[in-house]
Amino acid sequence: MEDHGGTIYENTDVTDIGSGHVRARQGTVTASVVIRATEAYTPRFAAYRRHIAPLYSLVVATAPLPGALRRDLGLDSRVAFNDLRNLRIYAHPTTNGRLVFGGRGAPYHFRSKVSPRFDTDVKIHARIAGTMRAFFPALADVEITHRWGGPLGVPRDWFPSVGYHPGTGMAWAGPYVGDGVATSNLAGRILRNLITGRRDELNRLPIVNHASPRWEIEPFRWLGVNAGLRAAAAADVEERLTKRPSAISALLEKLTGAH
Ligand SMILES: Cc1cc2nc3c(=O)[nH]c(=O)nc-3n(C[C@H](O)[C@H](O)[C@H](O)COP(=O)(O)OP(=O)(O)OC[C@H]3O[C@@H](n4cnc5c(N)ncnc54)[C@H](O)[C@@H]3O)c2cc1C
Repeated sequence: MEDHGGTIYENTDVTDIGSGHVRARQGTVTASVVIRATEAYTPRFAAYRRHIAPLYSLVVATAPLPGALRRDLGLDSRVAFNDLRNLRIYAHPTTNGRLVFGGRGAPYHFRSKVSPRFDTDVKIHARIAGTMRAFFPALADVEITHRWGGPLGVPRDWFPSVGYHPGTGMAWAGPYVGDGVATSNLAGRILRNLITGRRDELNRLPIVNHASPRWEIEPFRWLGVNAGLRAAAAADVEERLTKRPSAISALLEKLTGAH
């Protein structure tokens, strides 16, 4: 962005975003186009309280694994992988031979609260480490050296979006429902097209100008999201026991619209 003449103002706490303006404690910026790219932090703005629910994803990292062990486990390339269980998990070997292993399951916090103290959770990190060891029994004695996490922006229908309203000059990039590393790049290219009027087949993707329904008001949102997280965990137990697609999961998909 800076290569193209843009200026980035860091440490600027924005208090309000609206058509033609961005207000911060330090002053107000006016612009014909305003892009909101605030992902999990979106509900902090009064106008967007019910647009997304911040859900937490937590990860652990092992100490560097010996080369022979990595080869035995098929962890000697940088290929990322995940498992389509209901309470999603994912993993990625690092360049220095650690395994980073993550998953969902941390609770949703009342009124969409986001705080650095939610980035770690002793119980959930222990559960994620346990799942990693169930996947790779050979890692039973390997030390977990790092534990961290952060919030994801999840809309009511679990559908990512990017869009632009020329009438108001308001654009948005995300939420990405936890898959924003590549999708935020895609969103940037789509917004370039939409804002400058450039025709491109990317502009016809289903995520473009997709309008998700709003989340319920509290305390229904808190009750619903946390009940959903527990149901997803129960669905995994059900599938493990029955070896068949979970009935709880099918019901959950109907209720949440998640897929
Ligand atoms: C533990 C974890 C693992 C993940 N793993 C993956 C993965 O493997 N693959 C993948 O694709 N995605 C993954 N994600 C999701 C991915 O990190 C996000 O989708 C992506 O970072 C979103 O990018 P973004 O720029 O839209 O939002 P963010 O990176 O969240 O940036 C939002 C920015 O807005 C700023 N901001 C918020 N409020 C204000 C305010 N009031 N004033 C000023 N600035 C503000 C924040 O400081 C922040 O810099 C993971 C996320 C977590 C937490």
